[in-house]
Amino acid sequence: MASMKACLLVRPAPVETQPLQYTEVTAHQPDSHQVLVRVRYCGVCRTDLHVVEGELPPKKSPVIPGHQIVGIIEKTGSNATRFLVGSRVGIAWLHKTDGTCPYCRMGAENLCDHPEFTGYTLDGGYAEYVVAQEQFVYAIPEKFLDEQAAPLLCAGIIGFRSLRLSGIKSGGRLGFYGFGAAAHVAIQVARHWGVDVYAATRDARHQRLAMELGAKWAGGTFAEPPVKLDAAIVFAPAGEIVPAALKALRKGGALVLGGIHMSAIPSFDYELLYQERTIKSVANNTRQDGEDFLRVAAEIPIKTRVQLYPLAEANKALNALKNDAIEGAAVLQVSS
Ligand SMILES: [Zn+2]
Ligand SMILES: [Zn+2]
Repeated sequence: MASMKACLLVRPAPVETQPLQYTEVTAHQPDSHQVLVRVRYCGVCRTDLHVVEGELPPKKSPVIPGHQIVGIIEKTGSNATRFLVGSRVGIAWLHKTDGTCPYCRMGAENLCDHPEFTGYTLDGGYAEYVVAQEQFVYAIPEKFLDEQAAPLLCAGIIGFRSLRLSGIKSGGRLGFYGFGAAAHVAIQVARHWGVDVYAATRDARHQRLAMELGAKWAGGTFAEPPVKLDAAIVFAPAGEIVPAALKALRKGGALVLGGIHMSAIPSFDYELLYQERTIKSVANNTRQDGEDFLRVAAEIPIKTRVQLYPLAEANKALNALKNDAIEGAAVLQVSS
C-alpha cells in the first residue's frame, strides 16, 4: 500500500496544544464508485476547528480533517466514469448520502438521515491523497486558480445557501455578523445581486476588508447598523450575537445562522422576535447548491483572498483562524 503525508487528529484538544500530528499514513484506495484524488490545496474551515477541538463529537478516530479540497484525479473506481484521470476536481463537506431517506427523496439531501462527511466521519484533505464519491465531486471552473477555488467549496457554498435562505432580493439590506472566509465570498455574490451589505464584526481588519469589498457600513459586533435590515446572516459561532442581530431586523425580517456549531443563545425578550421575524439555521448543502454556486462564482467572478500555509503547519493555520488573524480564507498547500 502506498503511504502519504497527512495531518492526523488522534484526540480532539484545544488547537493551542497542536493536536494535529503531521505524519506518514497509508493512503486509501478508491472503491468502485469512488475516485482517488491527489490533493493540491485544502481550505481550512471553522468546522475543522470544531472537529479538532471536539465541539463536534468525534465520529472517526483518528481522523484526517479537511473538506475544501482541490486536486487531480489519480485513479478511478471500476464504476466511476464521470471524470477522467487527470481531471481537476473539488471535494466538499458532503461525502455521501443514503439517497433513500425521506429527506433525500424530498430533495433535501443536506438533511439526510445517514450522511457521511469529508474530514469528519471519514478522512479528508489535510493529506496528500483523499478518496471521494464521484457523484459528490465537483468540476472546478477553469477561471479559478487551485488555491483560490479551495475556499469556494465550503465557505463559498454554505455562504451561498445562507444567502438563499435569507430570502434577500436585489435592492435589499443584508447584515453579516462575522466577516471571515464565508462572508468575504458571500458579500461578492450579494453585491452582484444588487444587495447592500452591512458588516458587524469585532476585528478591525475584517471591518476594513468588508468596506474594501463594497459593504455600505462596517462596525463592531454589537454596534447597531444605521438602517433596519431585511435579513441578516450570523457567520460567527457566538450565540450572544443572535439577540443583537434580531434587534437590527425590520418587521418580517429573516435571521439565518450559518454555522454548524454555536455557543448557547442567551434568552431574549419576545419583542425581538415578534412581528414575524424568523430564525433559521443552515445545515450542510445539497449538490445542487454547490453546482449553482460554482456557476455563479465563475460568472461574477468571485475573487477569494487566501493565506497559504504548508500542510505541515495545519495547527498554525487553525490557531490563526481561531484568533481572527486570517484575512479571507486560510488554505493549506499540499502539492502543486
Ligand atoms: Zn438520505
Ligand atoms: Zn466547512
